[in-house]
Amino acid sequence: MSGKITVRYYDGRLNTARMAELYAVSDGIRVVFDGGAAEYARKDLAYMAGVGGVLPAIDLPDDARIEFLSHDVPDWLRLKNQTMLKQVNRFEKSWKWVAVGLVVVVAVVFGVYRWGIPAASYHLAHRLPADTLHSLGGQAEEMITKITEPSKLSAKRRQQITDLYRQQLKPETPAKLLFRKGGDMGANAFAIPNNTIVLTDELVALAENDHEILGVLAHEQGHLVHRHSLQQALRGIGIGVLMIAVTGDSSDLLTTLPVLLAGAQYSQAFEMEADRYAVGELQRLNLPPQHFSAFLERLQAQSDHEEGGIGGWLSTHPMTAERVKQVEDLQKTAR
Ligand SMILES: [Zn+2]
Repeated sequence: MSGKITVRYYDGRLNTARMAELYAVSDGIRVVFDGGAAEYARKDLAYMAGVGGVLPAIDLPDDARIEFLSHDVPDWLRLKNQTMLKQVNRFEKSWKWVAVGLVVVVAVVFGVYRWGIPAASYHLAHRLPADTLHSLGGQAEEMITKITEPSKLSAKRRQQITDLYRQQLKPETPAKLLFRKGGDMGANAFAIPNNTIVLTDELVALAENDHEILGVLAHEQGHLVHRHSLQQALRGIGIGVLMIAVTGDSSDLLTTLPVLLAGAQYSQAFEMEADRYAVGELQRLNLPPQHFSAFLERLQAQSDHEEGGIGGWLSTHPMTAERVKQVEDLQKTAR
């Protein structure tokens, strides 16, 4: 079936429309208007379906355009299915646009990953109540309890260290100190977000004096004060959400969170911040920060020695010369 329909036609040269009759011809359309006619091949038609108050239209080469006067576009024009596909095709053929699109997507994903997520995590972590993730912290604690053994330290020694922590550092909300025999984890200490600091027997044994232990406790307290594990967890969630946005795969994000927390792979920036906190605390107590840097170096030496071991402070506290240098620099400026 065929026929004609009255449309509004812009020829691409004049800004004003003229009324025209539209016909279907063998491989396209024909527009007949007062004083002339034009034909367009089907492959050059970009049909845009009408939406709401916007009437359907056909974009034509050379800025010409046909607008329908109602939403009723007759089927014999055979326009309805050709349409957007054609435009998408035209777009995809343009490699320049594809490349630009790709660069923009990569830049946005990288920007979100590198700056957006850390900044958002920082602000969120400092605004959320301190005990957010308390239950996840509890799960992390359970996990640590499973992979370590009960401490062999005497109750008296544990009490000494607890007193050291509470009476010297005087934390606003004192953390629970959890003493464990590290086993594979070796000499280690870490903070988990249910306001708990874990210390292994091996770490206590490696310290030459209690000032060194105090330095480690102050470092862990720094992680708690700056809410590093909460920030880390929020980053984890943010990265997870970003991954889902990029890959569409949402499998077990929440189940991996406690694992992330237990691992507590802090970023170097978090370590440096916790170190600065520790040095500040030692200085406040008139204790030379050398105690802390000496202990860092002993941990490093021990870890180099038992090469191949899976655990140790350094596996959760990556250390570079940069950290020792910062502690030394802070000492110098304090003098
Ligand atoms: Zn640390």
